[in-house]
Amino acid sequence: MSPSKSVILVTGGSGLVGKAIEWVVENDSKYGKREGEEWIYLTSKDGNLIDPAQTKAIFEKYRPTHVIHLAAKVGGLFGNMAANLDYFRDNLLINDNVLHNAKEFGVKKVVSCLSTCIFPDKTTYPIDETMVHQGPPHDSNYGYSHSKRMVDVMNRAYNDQYGCNFTSVIPTNVFGPHDNFHLVNSHVIPGLIHKCYLAQQNGTPFIMAGTGRPLRQFIYSRDLAKLFIWTLREYQEITPLILSVPEEEEVSIKQVGDSIVTAMGYTGDYRFDTTKADGQYKKTASNKKLMSLNPDFEFTPFDVALNETVQWFKENVDTIRK
Ligand code: NDP
Repeated sequence: MSPSKSVILVTGGSGLVGKAIEWVVENDSKYGKREGEEWIYLTSKDGNLIDPAQTKAIFEKYRPTHVIHLAAKVGGLFGNMAANLDYFRDNLLINDNVLHNAKEFGVKKVVSCLSTCIFPDKTTYPIDETMVHQGPPHDSNYGYSHSKRMVDVMNRAYNDQYGCNFTSVIPTNVFGPHDNFHLVNSHVIPGLIHKCYLAQQNGTPFIMAGTGRPLRQFIYSRDLAKLFIWTLREYQEITPLILSVPEEEEVSIKQVGDSIVTAMGYTGDYRFDTTKADGQYKKTASNKKLMSLNPDFEFTPFDVALNETVQWFKENVDTIRK
């Protein structure tokens, strides 16, 4: 980015990823705020991005030079299955409004957020950036997935037609402070942290569903935040970039449980209910493209990141999303 004044608008600034970007901007010496930068974090209270007029009013008010676009209708498996049309339309409208206004207001760069769950259901592993459109996504969340895939289509077309520098990143499973710790409608790590906390509070067993054998790539929200900022400043392509830990750093669900138990200091009964389904064994994504462009990036060790998340949960348990 140029050293002159930049106004960086973060949509979805109150969420898991937005809060992590705010933390890095305020606290990190390498990726943090630079001279001449003004960072603005939007929440849905600033305006509903589904609505064209409200979105335009936001761009008129802040006149951003750069946008990190995180805002999305996101939900768990059952929410998606019950309302694929809503996930499709709401996200399509949000993305269309944000990118259209970014073009109209001459925004120099937009980095939008996709997700590894949008990749084809039937594919080869590891997944890489070339595969986004190569087959239908999983049936459970096809609405969300197709709407996110369309961001890549729009980025390409905005570049072809108007020369816009709009790109996207594809994070794997994110965890960290400010996550949604709901027991049912949450991702695996925050849900398990909450479950273990309740087991500790109530003196009840901490039971994990399945065998614990499936493998996943988890990225710490603060690492992801640094990579978002790096992408905004350095990544030159329109095509998406996977933001993930290396393939070798996949962790098993059992490792997740063990680390939560340690971080929580839980000493009660901890076991696996192997009568419950495991889900897909692995969904490995390749971070080769990222590491070829940013070879010195260091990911926070999983246990350290998990411990920070658990301590944050314990300190904020009365006020967090749960
Ligand atoms: P959160 O659910 O934590 O936050 C969503 C954010 O979007 C909130 O700031 C919310 O505002 C805002 N928002 C939602 N709907 C609207 C709307 N109609 N108008 C304005 N703002 C809106 O999400 P995450 O931080 O987890 O996700 C950020 C991005 O990362 C998303 O695009 C998601 O698809 C993607 N992603 C997330 C992964 C994960 O594991 N969490 C994995 C891969 C990708 P408010 O708080 O005011 O409601």
